[in-house]
Amino acid sequence: MKISVLGGGSEIGASCLHIQIGKTNLIIDAGMRVHGDEPLPAIGMLDDLGKPDAILVTHAHADHIGALPVVHRIYPDVPIFANPPTADLMQIMMRDSFKIMTQRCMDRRTLIPYTKEQMEETLRALRLFPANGQMTIGDASVTLHRAGHILGAVMFTIETGEEKLLVSGDLSFKAGRTIPGAEVPTGSRPDALIIESTYGNREHSDRNTEEKRLADNVAEVIAAGGFALIPAFALGRAQEVLLILQDYMDRGLIPQFPIYVDGLVTPISKIYRRYPHYLKGPVAHRIQQNGDAFLTEGRCTAVEPKDREQVLKGKPACIVASSGMLIGGASVWYAERLVGSEKNAVFITGYQDEESPGRKLLRLAEGESRELELNGVVHQVKCRVDKYGLSAHGDAGELTRFISMIRPAKTLIVHGDDEARTALLERIDRRSHPLLTENGEAYTFMAQGHVAAAATRQENRRDQELRDKVGQLVLYKKDIGDELKLALCSGFYSKTKSLTCRTPKGKTIRISLEQVCETLGAWNRSFDELQGTVRAVFDFSRPFLKKIAWQKLKQGRFGFESIAAQCLTEHTLEQRIALALALQSLPDTCKTAAKGATNYQLDAENLQRLTNLELPIQAMKMNATKAMDCVRTLLTDNRHFIRCGADDLGTGQEHITLYFDFPSTLDAEARNALEKRIKADTGWAIVFSDSVRVDLLQNRINELLGTSGSSSVYLDTLTAGVPIKRPDNAEELLKQLKAETGFSLTFKDEPGESGVGRSPSSVQPDFYRSETVSPRLENNEAIREAGVWAKERGITLYKSSMKQSGGQTYMEIHFITPEVALRHGSDMEELSWRTGLPITYAKNPKQNEVIRIAAEKIPQRWGMKKNPSLHTAQAELIVKLSEQPPDDELQQVRDEIDQLTGYQLKVEVR
Ligand SMILES: [Zn+2]
Ligand SMILES: [Zn+2]
Repeated sequence: MKISVLGGGSEIGASCLHIQIGKTNLIIDAGMRVHGDEPLPAIGMLDDLGKPDAILVTHAHADHIGALPVVHRIYPDVPIFANPPTADLMQIMMRDSFKIMTQRCMDRRTLIPYTKEQMEETLRALRLFPANGQMTIGDASVTLHRAGHILGAVMFTIETGEEKLLVSGDLSFKAGRTIPGAEVPTGSRPDALIIESTYGNREHSDRNTEEKRLADNVAEVIAAGGFALIPAFALGRAQEVLLILQDYMDRGLIPQFPIYVDGLVTPISKIYRRYPHYLKGPVAHRIQQNGDAFLTEGRCTAVEPKDREQVLKGKPACIVASSGMLIGGASVWYAERLVGSEKNAVFITGYQDEESPGRKLLRLAEGESRELELNGVVHQVKCRVDKYGLSAHGDAGELTRFISMIRPAKTLIVHGDDEARTALLERIDRRSHPLLTENGEAYTFMAQGHVAAAATRQENRRDQELRDKVGQLVLYKKDIGDELKLALCSGFYSKTKSLTCRTPKGKTIRISLEQVCETLGAWNRSFDELQGTVRAVFDFSRPFLKKIAWQKLKQGRFGFESIAAQCLTEHTLEQRIALALALQSLPDTCKTAAKGATNYQLDAENLQRLTNLELPIQAMKMNATKAMDCVRTLLTDNRHFIRCGADDLGTGQEHITLYFDFPSTLDAEARNALEKRIKADTGWAIVFSDSVRVDLLQNRINELLGTSGSSSVYLDTLTAGVPIKRPDNAEELLKQLKAETGFSLTFKDEPGESGVGRSPSSVQPDFYRSETVSPRLENNEAIREAGVWAKERGITLYKSSMKQSGGQTYMEIHFITPEVALRHGSDMEELSWRTGLPITYAKNPKQNEVIRIAAEKIPQRWGMKKNPSLHTAQAELIVKLSEQPPDDELQQVRDEIDQLTGYQLKVEVR
């Protein structure tokens, strides 16, 4: 293998490596320098090196990504890989790098090395590492390991059959409240290790002492009426500082005071929030509890440039602002205004470049002069200046311990100043052959042949089984009869032999390995994305099950991955979850579970049942309410459709019943199509109710004939007898009625085939009745029962009363609107069963209520001048506004109002 160091070898800045291993060429990182005349790595070296097959990014700091656009310009078709949090962070950090670069070049009147467009182009070219943290590039396989340091930072193991290389990137082991420390990759010894050495000459002072000193000193300055400015690297350090200060407040160790956050710190903290599964447990927990752990309401506030004056006019406070070295950015603005007063303080928390104003400030704290140049203006420094060790890099001891566990054949030391590198070189075991690298040099090694690494720690096997689950999505069942659920494993407890997992809702749970039914692979994307995916499949798995190529499955005994490889058509998490749910629904006799995974016995019968989706697979049906919503939407344009209801719930026969005013208007073909469509859309079977809306039929007949009487209706033959003589235009009328209702007529004195000797069915409009006969309650009891029923069903009942018609007693109940009533058809059938009475609903809406609810739900900021107007015939609410509200907001309000009133909100803008 050949390793060429384009930058970041004998320095911190412009990290860039070209690796040739086997037949594969890779570039790892392309960063920039913040100081000196040359911002870029030695890109020219690439001319004599092989074209890269891919560019890999360790993490999103500018000294690792700032020159990527230059490399991308040379190799526009070469993919750039980063893991998801790094890719997210790069969107912000890259634009910031560009700003810094442009400013510097303008100051020095040199050419800007790339354009904004090239930078955007580079961001668009980013690709994500696969979720399992492993991929093949050319003849090399690349494995990612957590590197601590900052959100998303990784190391790479790159190996071919013959050679193996480990590239550390920036590393930290225990430092920090935000991110867990670096992993130690296991397996065979690498032929070479490339390791950073930022603090190779130092042992970190005790972290707790430093944190306490910082918190105490900030509190002290504020108590004395001053402002404490903490310039911090926006990515990593700032999040640490925010957690430290707020934790000390929570524990009552320092008083509460306002914290202001300015500059890039704000958007970056928001990205941290999206990846709780990459953060330490307590931070993730706080995000789950409060929605955020960094910016917290009433205590830690994000500030924009326009608010800055106001902050300094306000109460004494702590200001955490980027940049960390006082090179441009928000921190300089505050420093210019704060350094002149003894009351204030500037507290430095990170590495300072030799030439940075931050470093100068520290030097002048040691005596000498009191002058500091910021933005070209010389300031007399009177404020307090101090520095705190909150490093995000391993110290000399940690780095040497790491190297002694890895036991590489060769060790290349990079990413450190001369002092740090030589000090580290001295400490490394000679058997790991340490050497200092220089920028512009290439190093060639012969493969050493893999030497199996002696196990560094004797771990018992059980621990390894648990450890293997960390970072994986697991499908688990708390108890035998329970539903399957999914969680992301985030850690394990050796002592209790259990796993800690995070559910998609953000809850932390603890489960045993025995409760894990299947392991679905690693997850490295954002938590939001995981939530969405899981909800989609667990709400309704059928569409995902349909996409699986079941017919490709072979008979035999397989594990999950092997089955997935046979039949998945897309390698999405959705399909993987759906597949696992299906396999888990196989009979117990066909499954053997071990170590949180299952082996499935696929015989001809099982394959058949999978192909036909004839197994009790979880979530194969939508839940009943959603499914009915779906059916209603599907049938909105069918004017015969009245309502639907879910019946026989919880039995093998559960189905949705569809009610039409005149069911005979649907022929067999239409019914078939509908049945298929609803099955595919919702997973539910349907039944067509044959009950006819006789009242509507009656009205229609009267309308057509211009009569007002009642006819005798014969449901079995679909005819109605009317008490008038056949009119002249009978043909036409009959045709029309037939088309609309499926009924035909017989006229007076015309003994048609229906009529004689049979009794017509009684006409009772709009009644809901239970199919099972039940005892009738006494009137007052029935009214009381209606109240109980409404409460149980979460229905707002405005009134219920007993009525009589045609010698029959029934109950009329008042919903807010008849539209809402129609949504409770099956509920009303149930009430009928509970009271033994036919139930009907009031046909008039409670107009004032509808308006009141609408006025309450419509946000004030829409600036509604007048109450909305009601159009009861269309069940519409019209509101006039001067501006169109945002779509998503409108949709939300519309849904809420529809939910409560059954009325559709329409906005008219003028
Ligand atoms: Zn870094
Ligand atoms: Zn770095």
